[in-house]
Amino acid sequence: MTRSAAPHYMVTRFAPSPTGRLHVGHGWSALMAMDMARRTGGTFRLRIEDIDGTRSRPDHVAAITEDLRWLGIDWDGAIVFQSHRLALYDAALDRLRAMGLLYPCFCTRADIAASASAPHGPEGPVYPGTCRVLPPVDRAARMARGDAHAWRLDVARAAALAGRLDWTERPFPPDDSAPTRAVAADALRHGDVVLARKDAPASYHLSCTLDDAAMGITHVLRGDDLRDATGIHRLIQALLDLPAPVYVHHPLLVDATGRRLAKRNGSIALADLRAQGADPAALAADLRQGRFPVGITAGRA
Ligand code: GLU
Repeated sequence: MTRSAAPHYMVTRFAPSPTGRLHVGHGWSALMAMDMARRTGGTFRLRIEDIDGTRSRPDHVAAITEDLRWLGIDWDGAIVFQSHRLALYDAALDRLRAMGLLYPCFCTRADIAASASAPHGPEGPVYPGTCRVLPPVDRAARMARGDAHAWRLDVARAAALAGRLDWTERPFPPDDSAPTRAVAADALRHGDVVLARKDAPASYHLSCTLDDAAMGITHVLRGDDLRDATGIHRLIQALLDLPAPVYVHHPLLVDATGRRLAKRNGSIALADLRAQGADPAALAADLRQGRFPVGITAGRA
C-alpha cells in the first residue's frame, strides 16, 4: 500500500519596504510569489517592512497597495506592518543577548570606513570587530553614559554554536516539482552584522527572519540581491529555533545599460505605466511570461 504524503500547505509573501514607488520588477516578484502559493491552493501574504523610520513613509504604503491592486495582486489576511511588531524583535534580541551572542557597537560609519584593513563582504566592508574586543569596563562606561549604539551579532561565536547549516533552495522559475538543493549557509563572510540599529529597533536581517517564521511563510521568493542575506537568516533561524522556509531567488530586472532597476534611478514605476495608459491585465500576463517592457530584461545581480 502506498501512502501519499500529506499535502504541503504553501505560504508565500511579498515584503516591500515603503521607501518609494514599486517598479515593474517588484510587480514581477509579487506576481510570482502570489502565483506560486495560489497554484497549490496556498496563501499569499503582504508585509510592509517599515521599521526604517528615516526612509519609510506612510504615503508610500498607500501607493504600494494601490499599485499592487492595479496589477491584479491581492493578498490574504491583513497586511503585516513591521512597525507594529517591535516587541517581538525586542524579545528575540533579549534572548540572543542572554546567549552572549550580541554586543553593543558604538562605531560610526566613518569609524568603520576608516578601518583600512576591513575586507569586503556581501554588503560592503566587513565590520572589523572593534567593539567586540572593547574592554568590559570601557563598554560599561559607554553604556552608562548613554552613548548611541547598535547591537551586533558575534557571528563567529554564533556560527560555532549553530554548527554547519544549509538552506533549501528551489530553482527559478519556481516549478513546484523541481528538485530542491541544499546550499551551505555561510554567515561568516558577512562579519558581525547589525541586528538592532542605532536608529531603528531591529535590522532587516532580524525582523525579516522573525516575521517569516511568525507568519508561517513556507516559501520565500525574492531577488538575487538577497541571496547572500539568506546565509545570515538561516543562522538566526538556527539560533532562535525557528522553522526554515524554502528559498527561491529570482534574477533582478536590468535596464538597457545593464543597471538593475531601483526605486531611486527612475526605473519604470508601475504608477508611470498606469499613467501611460498601460493595460494591467496585459502587463501582468506579459510579466508572467517573462516579457518585460521595452529595454528591460532579467539579468544577473
Ligand atoms: N524589504 C526588502 C526589500 O524591499 C525585501 C525583503 C525580503 O523579501 O526578504 O528589499
